[in-house]
Amino acid sequence: MRGLPEGSGTPLRVALISEHASPVALVGGEDAGGQNVYVNELSRHLGRLGHEVDVFTRRDDPETPEVIEWAENVRVVNLRAGPRRRIGKDAMWEHMPEFRDELLRHVLRTGARYDVIHGNFWMSGWVGVEVGRELRAPLVQTFHALGATKRRWQGADDTSPAQRLAVETHVARHADRVIAHCPEEHRELVEEYGVDARRIALAPPGVDLERFMPVDRREARRLVGLDERDNVIVYVGRIVPRKDVRNVVRALAALLRSSDLSPRLLVVGGEDERPDARSTPEIGELRRLASELGVGERVVLTGKRQPDVLRYYYGAADVVVTTPWYEPFGLTPLEAMACGRPIVAAAVGGIPYTVEDGATGLLVPPQDPAALAAAIGSLLVRPRLRAAMGAAGRRRVEERFSWDRCARRIAAVYRSSLQPAASGAPSP
Ligand code: UDP
Repeated sequence: MRGLPEGSGTPLRVALISEHASPVALVGGEDAGGQNVYVNELSRHLGRLGHEVDVFTRRDDPETPEVIEWAENVRVVNLRAGPRRRIGKDAMWEHMPEFRDELLRHVLRTGARYDVIHGNFWMSGWVGVEVGRELRAPLVQTFHALGATKRRWQGADDTSPAQRLAVETHVARHADRVIAHCPEEHRELVEEYGVDARRIALAPPGVDLERFMPVDRREARRLVGLDERDNVIVYVGRIVPRKDVRNVVRALAALLRSSDLSPRLLVVGGEDERPDARSTPEIGELRRLASELGVGERVVLTGKRQPDVLRYYYGAADVVVTTPWYEPFGLTPLEAMACGRPIVAAAVGGIPYTVEDGATGLLVPPQDPAALAAAIGSLLVRPRLRAAMGAAGRRRVEERFSWDRCARRIAAVYRSSLQPAASGAPSP
C-alpha cells in the first residue's frame, strides 16, 4: 500500500458490499445508475487516501474473473450467487443467503481481515448484518433508496420483494452507523425507520470535477449534432417512469404553445446506446406522448452514453432539466452544475439540498408541466442569468460536493463506527 496523504489517519480495511451495483458495470441502464457511480468513486477515493477496499458484488457474467484489481488499493470481488447472467435487482433477494455464504468463504480462503463493513442498498445491508457477527467488524450502511418512499410513490408498480421494508428496518436498526445522503433521507430514517439520530451521519455523494467540467457550448453542439442557434433543453438519466421525462415532454409542448420559443429537448439515457423502445419501454411511451402533443420532431432521444462523454451533452444545454416524482439524492443535478449549466429540477428528496434555488438553478414542484415550462422559459430568455447560474453551480460543487471530500467524510464515519455506539456519528 502507498504512503498515506496528510490527515487521513491509519489506513482502514473496508469490505464494501454492493450486490447489484458493480463499479465495473456500465452505467445508465435500468438497474445501473447512481449506486454504481457511488461505489466506483467512493472506493477509488478511499483507495487514494490509502485505505484498502474490497468491493463485493454479484457475478453476472461467466467471463468475469472472480477478483479484479480495479484501482489503487481497490479490488472488485465477483461472488457466485444465483445465475451468472444479468438479473434485475428485484430478483436478487432469494440469492442473498448464497451471496453471504460465498462472501464468508472468500474471506476464509484468502484470510482477509476487515476493520469495517459498508453495506450499500438494503440487500447488501442484510448481508452486512449477517457477516458482521462472523467478521467482528461494525456495519456502516448506505441505503441509496428507501423502500418506504418507493412504495409510497410507485404503489402497485413497486416490484420490490415483499420482505423489503421489514429487512430494511432490521438493517437500519442494527447498523452501527447509517449514512444519510441529504437532510430529507435523515428525516425519513428517523421518522419512518426509527433510527437513533446519533447513529446517522450526513454525508452527501460527490461528482467527478474533472470528468464533468464546463466545455464550449458551440463545440458541444457540434459533437452531439445539434444546431448552435437552437435553444436546447437536456435531460440525462435513466429512462424510467419515476424520472418523469413525460413531464418534461409536456412542458416542452406547453412552451411551444404559450411562447415564441421553440426549443429542442435532448434526452440521454436508456438500456442501449441507441434509443430502442424494446429494451427501454419508457422510450416508446415518450415517443408516443411527444407525437400526440405535436412535438415529436423537437425531441431527440440518444440512448445511453458513457460518463466520459456526458460533459458534451450537458455542455450542449442552455438548461438542464430533471423532474422525478421522488429522488433519494440525484447525481445528475450535481453533474449539470459541475458542467456549468443552470438546472431546473423538481424540489424533491436530495435536490433542494444540492440545487440552490435562484442561484444555481430553479426548483419547481414535481408533476407540474406548466410550472416547469414557466421556469425553463424564464431562463431561455435570459442568457446572462443562465451564465451566472452555471458559474455559481460550478463553484458550489467545487466547494461542497467533491468525491475527495465525500471519501474523507466517510472514512471519518468508519472511524467513528469503531467507537462505542453512544459516542455518535461525527458531525459534518
Ligand atoms: N448516466 C450515464 N449515462 C446515461 C444516463 C445516465 O452515465 O446515459 C449516469 C448519470 O450521469 C448519473 C447516473 O447515471 O451519474 C444516474 O444517477 P442519479 O443519481 O441521477 O439517478 P439514479 O439512476 O441513481 O436514480
